[in-house]
Amino acid sequence: MTWHILGAGSLGSLWATRLARAGLPVRLILRDAPRLAAYHAAGGLSLVENGQARRYPIPGETAAAGAPVQRLLLACKAYDAEEAAATLAPRLSPDAEIILLQNGLGSQDAVAARLPRARCILASSTEGAFRDGDFRVVFAGQGHTWLGIEGQAQAPAWLGELEQAGIAHTWSAEILAKLWRKLALNCAINPLTVLHDCRNGGLAAWPDEVAALCQELATLLRACGQASAAEGLHAEVQRVIAATAANYSSMYQDVAAGRRTEIAYLLGHACQAAARQQLAVPHLQALQQRLSAHLAARGLPVT
Ligand code: NAP
Repeated sequence: MTWHILGAGSLGSLWATRLARAGLPVRLILRDAPRLAAYHAAGGLSLVENGQARRYPIPGETAAAGAPVQRLLLACKAYDAEEAAATLAPRLSPDAEIILLQNGLGSQDAVAARLPRARCILASSTEGAFRDGDFRVVFAGQGHTWLGIEGQAQAPAWLGELEQAGIAHTWSAEILAKLWRKLALNCAINPLTVLHDCRNGGLAAWPDEVAALCQELATLLRACGQASAAEGLHAEVQRVIAATAANYSSMYQDVAAGRRTEIAYLLGHACQAAARQQLAVPHLQALQQRLSAHLAARGLPVT
């Protein structure tokens, strides 16, 4: 079974190269003909691990290519997921499976609504990768990927292929709790690092602001039926701030580089969920307004 991977960015390349290295059939789906031509000129995808680069000449194509797609890894940003998935709709086989690597929440439902016949598998990953050149990815942080369909205990047989490729993973029937917990951690840390212009550790100077956000986020998680994701949230946020004190958050890095953020699928999703639950979240709302103004002032999208 071929792994079709849409998006030759950081995570897509990290998956593609490791699957190909394990001898599994992989095909990359690039954005358009010019990107495909650039990919061919590069001669493949390069993976940099422990300072060593190795190139993998994985076959590439665009969404317009004809062969049916049975298993798809959607490895674009949350704001591109729905449109990207829709371009592949005509090629999906009736029993197609799509693994959604997007951070945050909201894009997964949008993809599922657009492709009602596909079996959507949600994923939440703590692996770290970044691009230091076109079609060149650096494996920056070992991590773990949880995959799952909510309420489904039975893992698909192809998880063995991830084992073979050395991709650390666990199947989870409570994948939504994982995604909500990660979203809450992100909401409590990332926007504040942007607004206070600091590394994660700099938030130690703003304990009351962090505590107020954690309290609202925990209440929101419980209101959304995610009580387990609310447990010990404040303590974990404090732990993450201390353990990653020297790091700049992903949102900080995106804003500093003038890149679009995934705010709509993180803080935006939290505020929307609170509104649906008719739950007052004044600190989260104020944070969203401050962050939106900050992004708009830099010419970045606020959704
Ligand atoms: P990224 O480096 O920006 O890669 C996204 C890729 O998707 C880009 O290569 C982009 O193409 C491609 N793309 C977008 N629309 C497409 C389309 N219609 N057809 C084909 N390709 C398309 O993003 P990333 O860092 O890998 O992040 C992907 C998701 O994983 C995000 O939700 C992120 O939050 C999450 N995540 C990332 C990490 C990490 O360490 N990077 C860790 C955990 C979770 P172009 O190159 O042509 O722009």
